[in-house]
Amino acid sequence: MKITCPHCGEKSSISSSKKITQSLRELYCHCDNPLCDARFVMSLAHKHDTTPPRPVMEQAIIELVRRLSPREKRQLMDIIKQP
Ligand SMILES: [Zn+2]
Repeated sequence: MKITCPHCGEKSSISSSKKITQSLRELYCHCDNPLCDARFVMSLAHKHDTTPPRPVMEQAIIELVRRLSPREKRQLMDIIKQP
């Protein structure tokens, strides 16, 4: 992964990183532009999921099915049985 230098806009390399929390890291960067040569720290954070983890999705489906009425469960089974 390349990071854009916030000073000159050229590409920078990540020389090391430090875990702050499970979803946040600090990236220690060095600008590849010899005329800039800046060293800086950027943050890399998990913002949100575009697809939740499979176990979370499976549990959500199980909970949804449990809340269905018997009639809705029969309708679901009919849909599943269709080729
Ligand atoms: Zn730079």
